[in-house]
Amino acid sequence: MTDGRRVAILGATGSIGAATLDVIANLQKYAPDAGWCVASVSGHRRIDQLIESAQKASPVPQTIVVSDEQNARCASDLIAKAELAERCRLDVGPEALVRAAISPDVDTVVAGIVGRAGLESTLEAVRAGKRVGLANKETLVIAGPVVTAAAEKSGSELLPIDSEHSAIYQCLAEARENAAVKTPPSSLSGVSGQSSVSQQPSVNSLPGINSQPGFNGQCEFGSPGHKLPGVRRLILTASGGPFLNASFDEMEAATPAEALNHPTWDMGQKITIDSATMMNKSLEIIEAKWLFDVPADRIEVVVHPQSIIHSLVEFEDGSVIAQLSPPDMRLPIQYALTYPHRLPCPAPPLERTQRWDMSLIPVDHERFPALQLGFEVARVGGTAGVVLNGANETAVPLFLSGKIRFTDIARLCKQTLDDHHHESAPSLDRLLELDTWSRRRAAELAETISVA
Ligand code: NAD
Ligand code: MG
Repeated sequence: MTDGRRVAILGATGSIGAATLDVIANLQKYAPDAGWCVASVSGHRRIDQLIESAQKASPVPQTIVVSDEQNARCASDLIAKAELAERCRLDVGPEALVRAAISPDVDTVVAGIVGRAGLESTLEAVRAGKRVGLANKETLVIAGPVVTAAAEKSGSELLPIDSEHSAIYQCLAEARENAAVKTPPSSLSGVSGQSSVSQQPSVNSLPGINSQPGFNGQCEFGSPGHKLPGVRRLILTASGGPFLNASFDEMEAATPAEALNHPTWDMGQKITIDSATMMNKSLEIIEAKWLFDVPADRIEVVVHPQSIIHSLVEFEDGSVIAQLSPPDMRLPIQYALTYPHRLPCPAPPLERTQRWDMSLIPVDHERFPALQLGFEVARVGGTAGVVLNGANETAVPLFLSGKIRFTDIARLCKQTLDDHHHESAPSLDRLLELDTWSRRRAAELAETISVA
């Protein structure tokens, strides 16, 4: 297993993108001869920031991608002004994201675009067999089976950047080793049931989670060769967001500014609102289902306001292993880049000179109805994920622009899900049709809501 050192950063102007640039700059300082470099950067808006990030990288990226065609002219002018024209190529439009993702000059793609806009580039990177550091959870929510089957076929390493999933990935290291030792390579063929291209278990062909004691070794998902020995349950932590202690009435009246005021994480707008509704945890339940091949009833969520315990894995003997670090995305990003190696990271270590208070609190499902949607969608699979995601991606900007209330976000998502006819094994084309349908349906439903 080699780490991939020429990195395409898709979504370089975002929170994940900026953190990735910092991680790579640090790796270059720590290991100057190792060949770490930014091969390409992409941005949709904030083109000045994009060009500045390209200018700061050393060596400068070969390619600058501007996905919004309207910004091509501005990008070209700024590239000329920054005297980058001879060293960087400008590529424009949504297809340019795919070209950057599959370029032979790239080993690893950091999928840091927010929402459905990241789907094609992430999927094509997987199909091209790249290592993919996956921040863009929406890709798995929309098309989990398509993406995991593609990874299985191409041998792409799908490494989670989402802190909870990175934590679980780290907690499962021993179980993965046991699975690799005890299971013949031919049966480590991953979620799709297709045969593996490699004789070695690839990191993304994560076998599923073992059955409960007394389950007689029968499989309710996947096939026996895919099981991780001794794993009982995945426990995702949730910070609870800014409304952890708010009443339902307070949430009903919440303003965008209040919802954007996350107590522990500094992130892009969409995921910050998702954290406040707990839709983010819903999306992460679905993400975990596909990444780790685990059924919904083996996933739990617990509130942990300090955001130090990033997630936990419970084993058959009752032992629970957790991963702890301060809330700083540079650690999971670096882990996805350097796996299986661990190198010094710019994220600060855990403070040990002061008292730590770490609480685990049960979730209040009444106040956070979005969470139940995630469990339900993970349970039924099929077309439910794309519909939930499309409705949520429609509802969040409507809330931010004052057109619906905070609590309407989960309502709209539930209603859109209720209005759709579930299909269990949709094609990618069908999923994309339903993405469009769910956005339209959620927008129609929003029209019927009065914010007065
Ligand atoms: P952000 O809003 O800060 O950045 C989003 C990036 O996507 C920007 O570079 C933007 O230019 C690009 N983008 C937006 N619309 C686009 C479009 N239509 N086409 C192409 N590019 C487009 O978001 P973020 O917080 O960095 O989150 C990015 C992804 O990572 C999300 O899927 C989020 O759920 C996930 N994630 C983020 C964090 C975090 O700490 N920020 C943690 C875990 C997971
Ligand atoms: Mg997360």
